[in-house]
Amino acid sequence: MSAANANAETVVNTDGLNSRANRHQQANVEAHELLAEARSVAAAVADPELPFVTVEDLGILRSVRLEGSQVVAEVSPTYSGCPAVAVIEQSILNALLDAGFDARVQRVMSPAWTTDWITDAGRQKLLQNGIAPPAAHNPAKPTLFEKTSVSCPHCGGSATSRVSEFGSTPCKAQYRCDDCQEPFDYFKCL
Ligand SMILES: [Zn+2]
Repeated sequence: MSAANANAETVVNTDGLNSRANRHQQANVEAHELLAEARSVAAAVADPELPFVTVEDLGILRSVRLEGSQVVAEVSPTYSGCPAVAVIEQSILNALLDAGFDARVQRVMSPAWTTDWITDAGRQKLLQNGIAPPAAHNPAKPTLFEKTSVSCPHCGGSATSRVSEFGSTPCKAQYRCDDCQEPFDYFKCL
């Protein structure tokens, strides 16, 4: 083999590597954009019981990832007995399919969802819609004799009484404000 031939072969190989790298990079960019779009579609799905908050606001959309060309949305139920879970999963799946994605929804039970995962935006929306957001959970604090302080979402008053352990849905408790007398739902801490 002459030196010229060896050089020519090297150039060909380098070109081959470069174009493979470019194609790979291009595919990564497309996957990234696909994932970002799928994520925004899934994140915008409203909670069926609280239509003013999204699954992202509630922190139950765990992640959106790609398995090959299929979008996998990981969802954590607010609690295992919550009847809305199946509806939420179906809503997310339908939103992704409607947007043209090959998709499936995977339920993730561990680590378990807690109300701490509700975003600040989600808490604001709950409050604006007359539902007292859950008090921030502090696992370092003993809770056995601790009285939960729930502020009225209407007037902000802290003198409130629990009327019922269950509100309009099992994940809420019903309260009444002692100041303005308005009833309201409290999103229970889990
Ligand atoms: Zn009040």
